[in-house]
Amino acid sequence: RLAVTRKKISILGATGSVGGSTLDLIDRNPERFEVGALTAARNVAKLADAAVRTRARLAVIADPGLLPELEERLSGSGCRAATGREALCQAAAEADFVMAAIVGCAGLEPVMAAISSGRTVALANKEALVTAGELMTKAARRSNARILPVDSEHNAIFQCLAGNREEDVARLVLTASGGPFRSWARSDMGGITPEQAVAHPNWTMGAKISVDSATMMNKGLELIEAHHLFRLPENRIDILVHPQSVIHSMVEYVDGSVLAQLGSPDMRIPIASALAWPERMTTPSERLDLQKIGQLTFEAPDVTRFPALRVARDALKAGGAAPVILNAANEEAVAAFLGRRIGFLDIVATVEEALARMGVGAPQSIAEVIDIDRQARAMANRLMSELAA
Ligand code: NAD
Ligand code: MG
Repeated sequence: RLAVTRKKISILGATGSVGGSTLDLIDRNPERFEVGALTAARNVAKLADAAVRTRARLAVIADPGLLPELEERLSGSGCRAATGREALCQAAAEADFVMAAIVGCAGLEPVMAAISSGRTVALANKEALVTAGELMTKAARRSNARILPVDSEHNAIFQCLAGNREEDVARLVLTASGGPFRSWARSDMGGITPEQAVAHPNWTMGAKISVDSATMMNKGLELIEAHHLFRLPENRIDILVHPQSVIHSMVEYVDGSVLAQLGSPDMRIPIASALAWPERMTTPSERLDLQKIGQLTFEAPDVTRFPALRVARDALKAGGAAPVILNAANEEAVAAFLGRRIGFLDIVATVEEALARMGVGAPQSIAEVIDIDRQARAMANRLMSELAA
């Protein structure tokens, strides 16, 4: 038999929800994959366990205070421990294939490191693309890096585009579950607690994206993500509420044909599609049983009850620094909501106000993106302390 070469993968954000699902698939397919580097923000125990189990070469903890503990846990394992921004970027370039699963703009520099070195990047970290879409896609074209979308909607569209010409696409339809408050009156939303907001009806995810799904800012970020990934103008990307989360998104072609990708709501399906691309691999995910589901339903998105959809679309239309401000203010506001410092409706109100108060030109470099991100976070925090006063 011929020796089979395994795909070597680094995972940025290995201790999170997407990172964990990626490790689960790698654990189940040891003949297909090996691990280069794993990274985490603060969960040393989980990071070290995964690094030892998968025989990773490098483990990076973002919090420098935790390096001694990581070194101790990895001693004798053959896996090197490291910390800091540079080490995160090194981890990103450690393998040919990188799963970008850090949450937030914190993942931007490592993702850019992977792209600039021509890696294949499976992208879950939508905030990186939202804040630096143009710079990132330009860098990918220059280095021949490939971006494989992991976000379930974008992965669905990517699959529906295969074998077709870009110029034959009429529009994209991003489906949205509508989140846990889909049918709530706006007058009832003021008292929503973090516990209620993170309890998503269809998906189990990290806290930040769960809150984004509840405000529907997640779909707003995904609209911007789709614009950059598939190079379509904002007015050719529609949003359709589909509470069952069975159709993960659709592509309409010029002839009127609509292609959709369906599946159980399990992130291991889009993750597996990216990991194995252009092949397929098996997953333990529940098979789709349409007979059991019976009905698929659809609704128009309600921008009055969910203003995040309008605010995000306007930010995409405005371009320049607006998506950076949108994302940064949202990250700060979601953290404040989870910390019970602001109410549920204050999240999008803070984002909208930050956008209204800040006028900054388009960032020309990643350093400028990071600078605008920092300013927008400061602005959002000022606005939120005004709210509290
Ligand atoms: P999570 O909170 O479960 O995990 C985030 C990971 O990033 C963790 O490993 C954490 O240690 C790391 N991290 C956090 N802050 C960091 C920092 N400052 N520096 C370095 N590392 C840091 O999040 P998640 O739900 O897995 O989501 C990850 C990304 O994937 C997000 O961008 C999210 O929008 C996207 N996404 C997630 C899902 C899902 O089902 N969870 C679906 C689609 C897209
Ligand atoms: Mg999604």
